[in-house]
Amino acid sequence: MWQIIRSVNTKMLTSGTLQQMLIHAQLLYLKSTSNGRVKLHNARLKSIQDDHLYHIALSTGSDDLRRLFGDVKVVCFGGQATRMEKFARFIAREFDVSDTVHNFAAGTDRYAVYKAGPVLSVSHGIGIPSLSIVFQEIVKLIYYAGCENVTFFRIGTCGGIGLEPGTVVISQKVVNGALEPVYKQYILGRAVERPAKVDSDLIRQLYACSQNDDKFKTVLGTTLCADDFYEGQGRMDGAFCEHEEEEKFLWLRELADRGVTNMEMESLGFTALCDRANIPGAVCCVTLLDRCEGDGITTNLQLLHEWQTYPQILVARYIRNRLGL
Ligand code: URA
Repeated sequence: MWQIIRSVNTKMLTSGTLQQMLIHAQLLYLKSTSNGRVKLHNARLKSIQDDHLYHIALSTGSDDLRRLFGDVKVVCFGGQATRMEKFARFIAREFDVSDTVHNFAAGTDRYAVYKAGPVLSVSHGIGIPSLSIVFQEIVKLIYYAGCENVTFFRIGTCGGIGLEPGTVVISQKVVNGALEPVYKQYILGRAVERPAKVDSDLIRQLYACSQNDDKFKTVLGTTLCADDFYEGQGRMDGAFCEHEEEEKFLWLRELADRGVTNMEMESLGFTALCDRANIPGAVCCVTLLDRCEGDGITTNLQLLHEWQTYPQILVARYIRNRLGL
């Protein structure tokens, strides 16, 4: 832990966040094992000589994972490969790290993994099934690489409920379609439920990174994680729809009344997996539209791309504070 504390720089001392950062460092330490390393919850992995992280084209037998990734402190996940490449380039510029940003997972065409200094930028595709595969391989990667005190973020996009498009929502609660904070998975034919617990301390830290003069608004909210973009989010513009507009608006009203601020498709799995892996993690998404105003995303691409940088800006500030860069 003292290593983390030593990394707190003078900028943080003067910005008055030191106390918060110390508490966070302590919690990070407690969340991980005694040496700050991630613990794998699968004893069988010890007997695998050469573990192929198949979907990210890396393996313990042929890649020196400690040398390549041993310094990673933050992993940021997001849906699209191109967005995560841009994020890695942004981090490299922001923190003046000289790494040539390239896709370590290029051999698979499934996901993209970029590294910029101590930050890994990873694409997860759409939905929990896609996210959970790369999530598990990244957890193994940081274990094999011997990384210490790693924090995860999902920086993504979502539909807002009663929020101005371009608003950043940090999820302080994550719920499924039945509005329960539970991620359900079928294993060997049995339904297994895992709590989608959020990390309140990390959320506070991230929210504290928003600034009054930001050109975007940042709010804390409850995120509904749907299994589908169309009917699962009440949309009426998919290939299928069996509900009426009135029903959709009644549902949106009920969601708003119950504090739901946004909808996306990965937060439930992400938070449940972070909790299970004992890795601090937070979800931070920008709204691409207000679902009370419509279903289609019609904003021009240039503006959409700009909005997608907003969660990245917040997380970059967190990284600067946390690592004293
Ligand atoms: N992602 C979603 O899942 N829903 C939206 O409305 C926008 C982005």
